[in-house]
Amino acid sequence: MKNPFNDSPLQQLNDKLFEEKGVVVFIKREDLIHEHIQGNKWRKLKYNLYEARLNKQNTLLTFGGAYSNHIYATAAASKLFHFKAIGIIRGEEPQIKSDTLLFAASQGMELYFMDREMYRQKNNPENIESLRVQIGDFYYIPEGGTNVHALEGVEEIISEIEIDFDFICTPVGTGGTLAGLLAGLRGEKQTIGFSSLKGEDTLTQNVHELVKSYTGFDFTNFSINFDYHFGGYAKTKPDLIEFIKIFKHKFGIQLEPVYTGKMFYGLFDLIQKDYFPKGSRIVALHTGGLQGLSGFPELQQ
Ligand SMILES: *Cc1c(COP(=O)(O)O)cnc(C)c1O
Repeated sequence: MKNPFNDSPLQQLNDKLFEEKGVVVFIKREDLIHEHIQGNKWRKLKYNLYEARLNKQNTLLTFGGAYSNHIYATAAASKLFHFKAIGIIRGEEPQIKSDTLLFAASQGMELYFMDREMYRQKNNPENIESLRVQIGDFYYIPEGGTNVHALEGVEEIISEIEIDFDFICTPVGTGGTLAGLLAGLRGEKQTIGFSSLKGEDTLTQNVHELVKSYTGFDFTNFSINFDYHFGGYAKTKPDLIEFIKIFKHKFGIQLEPVYTGKMFYGLFDLIQKDYFPKGSRIVALHTGGLQGLSGFPELQQ
């Protein structure tokens, strides 16, 4: 069978600002991996799908919001690899479904809606078990696709990078991607996560625990920046929208405002503020998520 996935090329970005500050910036185009199953969502799904097969599970069950990149990717991957997919969606069933949910349904994903109160307790093992009683057995993938198997897939990003670099940057939601990069780096180089969410909460702790449970080691060569969340998850500001438009115009690369737009905005700002020593070589991940653009009419052509 032909491999349905493309490579994720590493491209250099050329900008006057980088020359002026003496830094070199590369973008790893995870958005090019697949039209629908792109970026870190594919990386995180990959070994979960292997694991499901290994355990002879034909049904995948996962959680997400109405605009979730993870729901979207899981639905498409389930269809491609012939799994049955169940998506538990946060909140009451909307009268008009988002493009994300319409797409998921079109791929054959069964959608169930869960009220927000119950949804908050979704990871409670008792609740997962009660779902098994109601729906039948399934392979459970947590919200955002983040678990130990996710790290195994994300780690492969590092082995694909054949140039020398000092920093690697990623957007952060659950921290699974950041944790996978740390696993791949084995304590070398510096990783910077840009949080799309407002609160520090338990994010740093979660990253430590994920890396430890996968590698057996605790790595500290990372930081999470909370200065560029633009008001919180899925919140935007005119500045951010403008930045995304300029980025597209300058480099011909589309970003979205939930994750990659915020990270690149933050990266450019940190470079401007001399955060990076002269001579730094920086790799930034384009983690995909472009389906989410449908929720932002101000970015539609
Ligand atoms: C889900 C997502 C993230 C966040 O990844 P985590 O592993 O949850 O931190 C970043 N970028 C994009 C495009 C995403 O869809």
